[in-house]
Amino acid sequence: MPHGSDRFRQKDRLVVLGGRKAAAVGQVWLVGAGPGDPELLTIKALKALERADVVVHDGLVSDEILALAPPEARRISVAKRKSRHSYSQDEINRMLVAFAAEGLNVVRLKGGDPFIFGRGGEELEACREAGVECHVVPGVTAALAASAAAGAPLTHRGAAQAVTFVTGHAANGKEPDLDWAALAKANHTVVIYMGLSQAAPIAARLMEAGRSGATPALIVENASRANERRVVTTLSGLAESASGLSGPALLIVGEAMALAQARGADVAAEILKAVRA
Ligand code: SAH
Repeated sequence: MPHGSDRFRQKDRLVVLGGRKAAAVGQVWLVGAGPGDPELLTIKALKALERADVVVHDGLVSDEILALAPPEARRISVAKRKSRHSYSQDEINRMLVAFAAEGLNVVRLKGGDPFIFGRGGEELEACREAGVECHVVPGVTAALAASAAAGAPLTHRGAAQAVTFVTGHAANGKEPDLDWAALAKANHTVVIYMGLSQAAPIAARLMEAGRSGATPALIVENASRANERRVVTTLSGLAESASGLSGPALLIVGEAMALAQARGADVAAEILKAVRA
């Protein structure tokens, strides 16, 4: 008969072994990487990255952030590519589940927040269906970084009682099908993700629905990154202002954008011209 304390130790060891066995099934962490600046990662996102065996990431995630994962962690880009094979959402879902089944700690790293136009919900559902534990780490979505950088709040007493995030992307490159009457209401900020190529029809629909062409608007390209550019414009000037940009960019329309401060190569050139004249 083992001594009392030995028996305790043995029992303890069994618990540890049991714990290891449970850990043999990996987990998936759906992590928001924020808008680009590594300092806008959450501490929780950083910790998840540091524990990763494999990082499955989008094109919007910078090398600087990917470098925070252990050097030996496998990095897999599932960025959309025009020329090469792009992974379908279904393939990505299956990849996450398969890695977890191998016992790996999987970080699915996405730009901004995983649940804001990031298809994080579909990946979470796939994990749930497969019985794989899935944790979600929120991230700073692009709209928050863009408004912070420009000094233009998304809600503002007397100027913006509500804010709506919409996607400008529609199937087959068609115009987005949005509730234009609701979006045209005054004192309401509308943030359009993936809207750069559709800026002209979006602005036209908003104005047709009654939003004034004089409503202040802001476009922010590469928010929070070294190459960030901001253009301060109006709803009627939105399409023209968007035409020179290649994204990723947000279109923000609303009275509170009157507070936005522009910066960028084009603005700097204009200021220089004015100073020299
Ligand atoms: N999950 C992301 C959004 C993914 S959809 C988030 O929460 O931010 C991709 C769109 O997000 C881009 O087309 C662009 O409209 C916007 N976006 C992402 N990062 C951006 C950035 N750094 N600056 C401006 N827009 C950005």
